[in-house]
Formats: sequence, C-alpha cells, structure tokens
Amino acid sequence: RRAAFAAARDLPPVTKDDTRIELMVNAGLRDDVSALDVTGADGIGLFRTEFQFLVSATMPQRERQQRLYKDVLDAAGDRPVIFRTVDIGGDKALPYMRHDEDTEENPAMGWRALRLALDRDGLMKAQARALLEAAAGRTLYVMFPLISEPWEFDAARALIEKQREWLIRQRKAVPVVVRYGAMLEVPALAEVLDLLLPRLDFLSIGTNDLTQFLFAADRAHPKLAERYDWLSIAILRFLSRIVTACEAHKVPVGVCGEMGGRTLEAMALLGLGIRRLSITPASIGPVKAMIRSVELAPLRAEMTRLLSDGTANARDALRDWAEKRRI
Ligand code: PEP
Ligand code: MG
Repeated sequence: RRAAFAAARDLPPVTKDDTRIELMVNAGLRDDVSALDVTGADGIGLFRTEFQFLVSATMPQRERQQRLYKDVLDAAGDRPVIFRTVDIGGDKALPYMRHDEDTEENPAMGWRALRLALDRDGLMKAQARALLEAAAGRTLYVMFPLISEPWEFDAARALIEKQREWLIRQRKAVPVVVRYGAMLEVPALAEVLDLLLPRLDFLSIGTNDLTQFLFAADRAHPKLAERYDWLSIAILRFLSRIVTACEAHKVPVGVCGEMGGRTLEAMALLGLGIRRLSITPASIGPVKAMIRSVELAPLRAEMTRLLSDGTANARDALRDWAEKRRI
C-alpha cells in the first residue's frame, strides 16, 4: 500500500464525481517543508509557528523568525502556506517567558494563544513584522488560534495591518496581499460566526481543541482518548452547522485538526461539505486514495440521513457505506 500511495503522489485529489479537494499538510519546523514534495500536497494548511519558540532556549528574535518564514515560503514556491500566529502559554509554557500567574489549574482554557499574544503585544508585533517582511512580494496567509469572540480577530488583524502600514511608510516591501483567517476551536465562536464570517478570508476548524471543549474532555488524557468518538453525532452536527454558515457567506472552510487525517473521519468531513483538509503528511496517501474512490453526491445524502436519524452509530454506518462501495 505504501508503494501505491507513493505512486499516487502526482495524482490530484479529485473525487469520482470530479470535485477537487484541497489536500494540505500541517507543519511547524523548517525540515517539515520537505513533506510538500514527498507527498505532492497543495500547500501547508497549518504552520504552527510556536514550534520555533518551543525548541529554542531563548526567545527567537524577529530576524530569526523572519528567516524561518522566508525559508518555508521559498521552499513552498507557488504553494500557499498558512501561518498560524503563536499558540503558546498554557501547557506550552516557555521557560524563558515570565507569566503573570504562577500556575494555571486549566491550562488548555487558560492564558494562551491569541489571548496571551494580544496582551503581550510586543511578541505579536515582532511576529507580524517577521511574517510581513518574509512574505514581501507574495500573498501572506495568516490565521489566529483560539478565537473566542469576533473582537479578538479584529484586534489581531488590526495589529498586523498597523505593522503593514508602518512598513509601507518606511518604504519597505510588503506582501502583495494579506489573507486573514480565524481558527474555530472554541464552541462559543460558532454561535456568533455570522458576525465574524463577513470579515474573514477563510476559516480553519481546529478539531483537536474544538472536540476537547465540546466534550469537556482533556485531549491529552489517556483515559479519555478512546471515550468520545470524532464521528459522534454531536460533533458531526456541530461541524455541519459551521459548514452551512460558511457556505452561506461564501467563506472557504477547512479542517486542520488530527480528525482530518483519518480516512473514515476525512470521508465524513467531505460528506459535510468540507473541501479543504490540512493533515499530517503521513496521512496524505491514504486520505487521497479515499478521495479518489468516493462519490460526493451519495456521500452527502448519507451524511444528511445520519445527522437527522441521530440515533445511528455513525462510525459503523459510514464504515458499512464505504465498504459496500470499496472505498
Ligand atoms: C487543533 O486544535 O485542532 C489544532 C489544529 O491546533 P493544535 O493541535 O496546534 O492545538
Ligand atoms: Mg488548537
């Protein structure tokens, strides 16, 4: 099978009824970029910029950040790279950064990601400058993690725009265009998505954090790892509403959590209307094989049936459905 996946490297991720799915990889370090060529992926759908901070002994200065982003963009060439601004704090605490609080009882729900970045705006400004200068002359895609309310997106976007305007005044080269996205990881954001969508260029659903918050179940707890299913009706219905809202506002929506890297889960996401997946590189082969053997119209009908008939075990039903069609 591995050889078959390698042979499919240059085949496009197109469904049997001719819908092109965007298949991207998640990355975080300079060396991860080679996965683009190895897998034939369309781009990097999630570049976790905090990795550089986590592997450094000292705070990476702007120049070092900029060098990494530029290297990644150069290696990606024409393929898009979506940079996620730092998701540090909480359990990803940096030894060299002082926190205001000594301990947090619930770090995943704590002072992390954009919450921390908006408070420590020196950090965010340096990252904005590094991203803008690294992407000079190209399109810069940037997205913000753990947005809980629309104003957080507005504040983060304004911070980057201010740096962009400053660079222009300094007669420095800037990106041709900046595309701004939000990550949907906090359930509350789904309830006000209609307010945020008109301001977004794209939305990316982070199913790792989203499901941990939906089920109130720590994503890293070994006793809970198997308890709740990504193919539960609760998650599928929740995601379905998000996709419907994005379709209504014509905002591209993708999934960048681990869920999208499992073939049956990825198939369910296609059935909900998701057309962009960003997954771990090792999953590209199996997920592409699934995409190329599936027909979307009957899949969508099956998902609709499963969601309204909420008592069914969606995992078993989808597995049967796929096996019958040799997917
Ligand atoms: C997620 O939460 O699904 C996600 C993609 O971000 P991370 O795994 O880095 O928290
Ligand atoms: Mg997350």
